[in-house]
Amino acid sequence: MTSTVPTAVQHTDAQPPITMFGPDFPYAYDDFLAHPAGLGQIPATEHGTEVAVIGGGLSGIVAAYELMKMGLKPVVYEADQIGGRLRTVGFEGCDGDLTAEMGAMRFPPSSTALQHYIDLVGLKTQPFPNPLAESTPSTVVDLKGESHYAETVADLPQVYRDVAKAWNDCLEEGADFSDMNRALRERDVPKIREIWSKLVEKLDNQTFYGFLCDSAAFKSFRHREIFGQVGFGTGGWDTDFPNSILEILRVVYTEADDHHRGIVGGSQQLPLRMWDREPQKIVHWAPGTSLSSLHEGGVPKPAVTRLDRTAGNRVTVTDSSGDIRTYQAAIFTAQSWMLLSKIACDDSLFPIDHWTAMERTHYMESSKLFVPVDRPFWLDKAVDDRGNPTGRDVMSMTLTDRMTRGTYLLDDGPDKPAVICLSYTWCDDSLKWLPLSANERMEVMLKSLGEIYPKVDIRKHIIGNPVTVSWENEPYFMGAFKANLPGHYRYQRRLFTHFMQDRLPADKRGIFLAGDDISWTAGWAEGAVQTALNAVWGVMHHFGGATDATNPGPGDVYDEIAPVELPED
Ligand SMILES: Cc1cc2nc3c(=O)[nH]c(=O)nc-3n(C[C@H](O)[C@H](O)[C@H](O)COP(=O)(O)OP(=O)(O)OC[C@H]3O[C@@H](n4cnc5c(N)ncnc54)[C@H](O)[C@@H]3O)c2cc1C
Repeated sequence: MTSTVPTAVQHTDAQPPITMFGPDFPYAYDDFLAHPAGLGQIPATEHGTEVAVIGGGLSGIVAAYELMKMGLKPVVYEADQIGGRLRTVGFEGCDGDLTAEMGAMRFPPSSTALQHYIDLVGLKTQPFPNPLAESTPSTVVDLKGESHYAETVADLPQVYRDVAKAWNDCLEEGADFSDMNRALRERDVPKIREIWSKLVEKLDNQTFYGFLCDSAAFKSFRHREIFGQVGFGTGGWDTDFPNSILEILRVVYTEADDHHRGIVGGSQQLPLRMWDREPQKIVHWAPGTSLSSLHEGGVPKPAVTRLDRTAGNRVTVTDSSGDIRTYQAAIFTAQSWMLLSKIACDDSLFPIDHWTAMERTHYMESSKLFVPVDRPFWLDKAVDDRGNPTGRDVMSMTLTDRMTRGTYLLDDGPDKPAVICLSYTWCDDSLKWLPLSANERMEVMLKSLGEIYPKVDIRKHIIGNPVTVSWENEPYFMGAFKANLPGHYRYQRRLFTHFMQDRLPADKRGIFLAGDDISWTAGWAEGAVQTALNAVWGVMHHFGGATDATNPGPGDVYDEIAPVELPED
């Protein structure tokens, strides 16, 4: 079991698996990708036509790759690095090939469209050492100065199991958890839509914390407090308390926070390998064509600085080198706030309601700090004050209410150099680190952990400089990932459905939004992939193309599964 607090219905092999199939837009992206007919075709007269893809993160690279396979010529613009928030870095000042995942680091098996691409490029995954996960040797929960050592949830004091039960009861009582779980497993679209429509209407104005407070199961403040610290799945979720409860339900329904796996060698390899990959099935282009070979020097074009709508409903893109090019279609995958700040935009690019939605976009902040160490010393066995073995590891994956919040221990086998993520935080907890340098951060983290593990000298194992990030401080990101606040459902719906451009005025078509920001499951790479596939469908349709009748795309079945609409009055 991977959850700190188990969810109401546990997976058994007899049941179909949970996937990120809805609940807002229950479309089988995984089946669409696996179908031999492919994702669709464009008229031969359009073959070789350039399409701008702004942002070379996962969403942009997936979109560019699929457009290239259809015979279009994607022109990728990337301000920072291919990979975006799939950012894997090495450590200066120490030997070896140790890496740290500054953005995404653990992926649920329910991310089946993402998995399609992981398999395509031949990457391997391995269990990620989350709190109390089967592969995690031990976990320490340290709250209010009191530490509990646990190998399974059964080792924690009764109050933690009471909190787990309260969460299960609360989900059942307030969010039809078992029924939704069954419907998602069975891909029962009418049932998913029936349950979710009612919940969207009822809960769009509710915070995560308000949802807990409204539940009879969570009457106890103490239980809410503990729940906030240790949460479910990956640990503490109290920094999400002000967010819309709909965001949390999306995560727990789709098991986004469960059974996580890391990508061996780092997640950035995925977009990098796709950049170089020569697809076997490709229209118009010669065998051996790749995204890399379609770009001068094998690199994307630089940052976009200006976007204009020009005559004939074209999108004109200016980049930081001063190059100006005009396209019939463009896909924008970077964070929406870029359109408000770093990129000079023409108002006529989007309808006013979409601009409002982008302005209202709310981001989570997030900081991480990693250090390289000489070996996985945490697996050394502890002794008590008399020198007798306790049978415990000297240090464990740690959840705490101290500054560090979550500490992850990442090893690659005994006696090999290893990595510690000393701290991974969100929102206010992340902002606390913002003004501190990497070394100042590390000192505070070592002090916090020293209070939990007074007998362990972590510092003497450190073999290189720390690496750190605060995503809110990154000029081409400005935040970690979108998280809707109460009342944001309508904005989210506008942005997600933007690929259905027949519904927009003719002079607002041709630029397509995609990426984590407009996904229903922001903060999960699956959403970046799903929205990329929507945009690919949108571009294909824009050029007069169509899918094969045996493999309808997201836009073909849109009317049957469209996200519920709330009144605008
Ligand atoms: C701290 C953190 C932890 C996460 N953890 C997980 C996890 O464990 N599991 C999971 O599944 N997902 C996780 N995610 C989410 C996942 O990383 C994202 O969903 C995914 O990487 C987003 O891809 P994207 O292409 O939509 O956006 P991005 O990766 O942000 O790509 C957009 C690209 O646009 C570029 N850009 C910006 N401005 C311009 C410009 N003016 N011109 C050209 N290019 C521009 C950026 O440099 C960037 O490369 C995490 C994210 C963060 C930040």
